Amino acid sequence: MAQRSENPAPVRFDDEAWEALAATTNANLCFQCGTCTAACPLAENTPLRVRQLVREAQFGETDAFLWKCMTCAECNASCPRGVDIVGLVRTLRGREWRTRNVPKGLPTLLWGMYSDGNTFHLPPKQRASWMQDVKVPGKGSTLLFVGCAASYDPRAQRIARSVAALLNLAGVEYQVMGTEEVCCGEAARSVGHDGLFRDLQQRNTEAFRKRGVERVIAISPHSFDALKAGQSANGGPEVVHYTQAIEQLLDSGKLTKGSEKGTVTYHDPCYLGRHNGVYEPPRRLLELSGLKVVEMGNSRAQALCCGGGGGRMWMETPPAERPGTRRVQEAAGTGAELLATACPYCISVFESERGSEAIPVTDVAELIAGRVKA
Ligand code: SF4
Ligand code: SF4
Repeated sequence: MAQRSENPAPVRFDDEAWEALAATTNANLCFQCGTCTAACPLAENTPLRVRQLVREAQFGETDAFLWKCMTCAECNASCPRGVDIVGLVRTLRGREWRTRNVPKGLPTLLWGMYSDGNTFHLPPKQRASWMQDVKVPGKGSTLLFVGCAASYDPRAQRIARSVAALLNLAGVEYQVMGTEEVCCGEAARSVGHDGLFRDLQQRNTEAFRKRGVERVIAISPHSFDALKAGQSANGGPEVVHYTQAIEQLLDSGKLTKGSEKGTVTYHDPCYLGRHNGVYEPPRRLLELSGLKVVEMGNSRAQALCCGGGGGRMWMETPPAERPGTRRVQEAAGTGAELLATACPYCISVFESERGSEAIPVTDVAELIAGRVKA
């Protein structure tokens, strides 16, 4: 287990700060059992200790390793008192923005999200570049929300094209916002900047309203989670993840089972699985395409985070602290021919941290497009 400093600074009490935290979090419920520290995947390789982070918050203090958290929610799932530790982390981060005590690079990221509407610092007019050679019906009350990664990142654009191809194959009427879409704001929420999160949500909500959108299909689990939270607060449309939407098309007979042979192991993205309880639809899609799903030891609610959540995609992580490397090794250890997931962040992390592991990494949509029929 990675050690913290042998000479920790004495703890100061800040009653005012604690009262403010107690009003917006439930950290007062913590009775310091330490179960969260045992569950946290970072306890082994980093100095982050969740129990200590919560204790310091109870004194009104902010833990020195606050920004290492990936908001994977393993701690939330294990806490016997129901403490919302992820919510506490976001709140503590929000407090740090007031004194600009935030990791290098984050102010630039947020400024780009505000001014360009994306996390890539690319012009908004390039947002529809994923649509080359893709025919979108452009009608109906269903909207495909592409998100920044699948709009701008050439690797993730393949996921957007595959989802669009599956919807087209099933004859679904849907629209996309193209250059009018802006970032879902999930990165702002994860790093504690609630003001920017709400601003981006309002911009999308207004566009949904003008377009008569009643149902949103999100490609990224991060957009899915953020839009669900933002839209339910604004009385907006129903939000589903693409794996749920495609599963419904298979169940209703609009798409039919494939006959592919082979084995695949599935990685549960934290924001699809633990945060939203969507475990079965991606597995069913893989099975319906004919593949055999081989489970990793840590799967479903116990799935190990890829390391890209909580804004960590935009912060430097030393190689020894990267959980993605361990996750790819675990996947390769199953003997499966492929590692599938359903999140552009997970794909990006696994492909860059695959090292010597030969197991190919793919998204569920890419894997099943071409393996199912109309
Ligand atoms: S598991 Fe819950 S109660 Fe136990 S130390 Fe962690 S936050 Fe506190
Ligand atoms: S959210 Fe994940 S990384 Fe963050 S403290 Fe909890 S278990 Fe650790």
